[in-house]
Amino acid sequence: MYTVTVDRDKCEGCGECAENCPASILEMKDGKADVVGDLADCLGCETCVSVCPSGAVTLEEN
Ligand code: SF4
Ligand code: SF4
Repeated sequence: MYTVTVDRDKCEGCGECAENCPASILEMKDGKADVVGDLADCLGCETCVSVCPSGAVTLEEN
């Protein structure tokens, strides 16, 4: 199981994480990314972390 966190203060609203998450965990809300999907579906692929230009996404295995 993974925990995905978006720091909305750091998010620049590019939408890359939401577009590229294969499990639809992340979506854009009010111009910023938000964690909306079931974290049990997260694959831990780190795509969301690597595509983010502002270091706003954090992924932790727990
Ligand atoms: S680690 Fe992969 S599956 Fe999990 S939220 Fe990020 S992009 Fe989506
Ligand atoms: S990739 Fe980063 S900056 Fe872009 S929407 Fe996602 S969290 Fe925000």
